[in-house]
Amino acid sequence: MERLDTDVVVIGSGFSGIAMGIALRAAGRDFVILEKAADIGGTWRDNRYPGVACDVPSHLYSYSFELNPLWSRAYAPGDEIQDYLLYVVEKYRLRPHVRFRHTVQHAWYDEKFGVWEVVSATPDGLLTTLRCRDLVVAVGQLHSPAIPDLPGLADFRGEVMHTSSWEPGTTVHGKRVGVIGTGATAVQIIPELAQDAARLSVFQRTPTWVMPKIDPEYSDSLAQTYEKRPWLMRAHRAKLKTFAETRSLGFTKQPLLMQAASLVARQHLHSAVSDANLRDRLTPAYVMGCKRIPLSDDYYPAFARDNVELVTDAITQLDATGVRTADGAHHELDLLVLATGFDPRGAYRALGVVGARGASLSHDIDAGLGTYYGVTAADYPNLFFLLGPNTLLGHTSVLLMMEAQVELVMKLLAERDRRGAAVVAVRPEVVAPFTAEMQQRSHGSVWETGCRSWYLNTNGDNYVLWPGSVPEYERRVRRPEMVDYEFTTPPGG
Ligand code: NAP
Repeated sequence: MERLDTDVVVIGSGFSGIAMGIALRAAGRDFVILEKAADIGGTWRDNRYPGVACDVPSHLYSYSFELNPLWSRAYAPGDEIQDYLLYVVEKYRLRPHVRFRHTVQHAWYDEKFGVWEVVSATPDGLLTTLRCRDLVVAVGQLHSPAIPDLPGLADFRGEVMHTSSWEPGTTVHGKRVGVIGTGATAVQIIPELAQDAARLSVFQRTPTWVMPKIDPEYSDSLAQTYEKRPWLMRAHRAKLKTFAETRSLGFTKQPLLMQAASLVARQHLHSAVSDANLRDRLTPAYVMGCKRIPLSDDYYPAFARDNVELVTDAITQLDATGVRTADGAHHELDLLVLATGFDPRGAYRALGVVGARGASLSHDIDAGLGTYYGVTAADYPNLFFLLGPNTLLGHTSVLLMMEAQVELVMKLLAERDRRGAAVVAVRPEVVAPFTAEMQQRSHGSVWETGCRSWYLNTNGDNYVLWPGSVPEYERRVRRPEMVDYEFTTPPGG
């Protein structure tokens, strides 16, 4: 009998890795969570830039099994979300399962025994190998920063900071600051920097649609009511979930609806910026929803400030002191902020995963690896992705998808045990039609109406978002067809 160090290795201790740990612990399974940082968390541990918050309502951006009556406002700031996650980890006693500062270097599937061997390294170079039955990849798609390939970036002698590595405590007071990018992150950081910077130059390649943010603070009495009557909190969450779902149609099937909704964003811009020329430059040409729709009441007004400049000429070159643009202007800077987003497949590539028959995840993921519901892939037996391809969302909380996935994984493990098998793998013949369905449905979505975004792969196909409603996804994965999976026992297993 093959000796295992643990049953399951989970890579990552963000929201999805923690949800997986909670489910594994409840089922009495032995597991280890490998976390490359020094503490729990993912997005909300790493992203500490001024203004960081979640644009999904707090009562929906929390685990369904651990609602939080104490949210301070409708849209929680990032540090409050991180505190919530830390609280959950203590409550469910997960910390002893986590190995901090363990970066996965390599993981390979041993076909003879049907087990994974995972090698991780600590910062001092200590390598640890864990043999486990199952591998859960919970690394997130918004983890590896996308650093733009701008000529002369290395020559710039001021500070350069990607938003995800913002050092808390950094001050921009009196500094000349440049921000590259105008996506969802930039919309949050720009109004904050504008307040303190001596001068803020925003380098915009594509404008973004910004909707009003209705973000009331929650009173203590509301928190007390929710504590005493949790059913009211659940009812509020159900209402938020239902309301958000009404928007999915515009994203997935009827982009024309998004065109109508963009009138609200247009009006929002109009009421904040009186200069017609500036308004034109801030007005997107793409259909709203093709990129993520940020919410902010401060973003547009920031451009009306005297110390803020919108730069729409392309960046041609950086040098020691700043940025030169195509109109020949030179923008002198002390600090350059890269709000340039993430490489959605970067974190997968870094893991060095090699599956059955020598399949390389770093190669396959870039080649458009076909998955089944974003969770399993044919050449990767006993491996489960959380929030994998085609399972993120643009219209509501991604935690809903992730909880459904955790449930699916637990069901597959239980079914494998029930059958006395050692390996579960999705059948290749169901992956191809599922992948084709994802592509075909995405063609009718707003994401493929012609904008550039991180949702699309190099072929222009949506490889990130689920092209349907959350209830549909939940319905389909919560009652898995076990015939879609193979349960086997390898010779040595
Ligand atoms: P993003 O949406 O990918 O935006 C990156 C920005 O950088 C874009 O404006 C892009 O311009 C610009 N850019 C990239 N490379 C450039 C270059 N070489 N020259 C000039 N401009 C360049 O990244 P993000 O804003 O970090 O958001 C990523 C995702 O994070 C979002 O879609 C969302 O899912 C998530 N997010 C969520 C929240 C939340 O509240 N839940 C908040 C922030 C982020 P182009 O548009 O022209 O490519």
